[in-house]
Amino acid sequence: NKQVVLKWFIVGAPQEKDMEVREGTAELKVPEGSGGVLVKNLYLSCDPYMRGRMRENYSSYIPPFQPGSVIEGFGVAKVIDSDNQNFKIGDYVSGITGWEQYSLITRNEHIKKIEKDDIPLPFHLGLLGMPGLTAYAGFYEVCTPKKGDYVFVSAASGAVGQIVGQLAKIYGCYVVGSAGSQQKVDLLKGKLGFDDAFNYKEESDLSAALKRCFPEGIDIYFDNVGGAMLDAALVNMRVHGRVAVCGMVSLHAYTDPEGIHNLFTLVQKRIRMEGFLQSDYLHLYPKFVECVANYYRQGKIVYLEDMKEGLENAPAAFIGLFSGKNVGKQVVCVARD
Ligand code: NDP
Repeated sequence: NKQVVLKWFIVGAPQEKDMEVREGTAELKVPEGSGGVLVKNLYLSCDPYMRGRMRENYSSYIPPFQPGSVIEGFGVAKVIDSDNQNFKIGDYVSGITGWEQYSLITRNEHIKKIEKDDIPLPFHLGLLGMPGLTAYAGFYEVCTPKKGDYVFVSAASGAVGQIVGQLAKIYGCYVVGSAGSQQKVDLLKGKLGFDDAFNYKEESDLSAALKRCFPEGIDIYFDNVGGAMLDAALVNMRVHGRVAVCGMVSLHAYTDPEGIHNLFTLVQKRIRMEGFLQSDYLHLYPKFVECVANYYRQGKIVYLEDMKEGLENAPAAFIGLFSGKNVGKQVVCVARD
């Protein structure tokens, strides 16, 4: 059972040497009476929040990983042995699993059954998974959109951003995204149907770039990155604008984050800035899946996925999130079935 373990707690940007691939020695058997299941992992998700769990003394909504233990995260897997009547051998499940070929899952509240239908299995890690719910709840519940709103999304080609932008377009908003390469900008304006997009790495003045894209200001900023982009967006907000603080991926790599200077605009322009966690919106899951799966089937939403082959490539795939190597949702394929 090949596994990826965290070697030590990390400081600053994650590197490949912080993780190692090893051969697991634990017996692959479901203990009788445990109610557990043994799964074969098929697809694993790389998510920016996992970086937080690699830090010592990480106090958040989720505990840190322990050095020497298998990294855990969202995955799609197939049940190969079961001591639980809710899961049969051959069932496909998604939920929290390990970065390893096979996982013994005893906390069954962490997994749910999924149907194998016309939606590809790994989409349950993005479009119809945690990032999709984040986009759905963040946009409809936190941003309180109105038709015609001017919407700005950062990390716009990523797992969350691409869905936010497309939901906003469907809603009738004017949508601009920022991303870190020309290739991503072209995808946003072409395939994903954003009204405009810019490469923030090519802009010497982020505030001026936003002014150019939004001469009348921004109603909604869906913030995936924090830092200098958030500061620039704040000064470009309109009166009664909304900032949904989804994540601050630009700060993960640094121990000394850049300060935010423009918070007083919240007062001047009566802006509402609200942080949120998708886990507070799990009750919306059925509605979200129905809505987004329908949009996907109708061709109203397209989905960008970046698939790396092989468990041994999971550390590199994960690290790539923090320099923008991923084009779309980063997934690792461990096995196809
Ligand atoms: P992405 O698929 O968007 O991957 C991360 C992207 O962030 C990279 O591709 C890169 O794109 C961008 N990025 C990396 N470093 C920087 C930087 N220094 N400055 C600006 N952009 C950077 O990830 P997700 O869609 O999964 O996550 C997006 C955000 O949403 C993250 O902040 C994450 O923590 C947050 N999140 C929050 C949740 C919640 O419940 N609140 C749930 C899920 C995610 P580029 O090439 O454009 O720079």
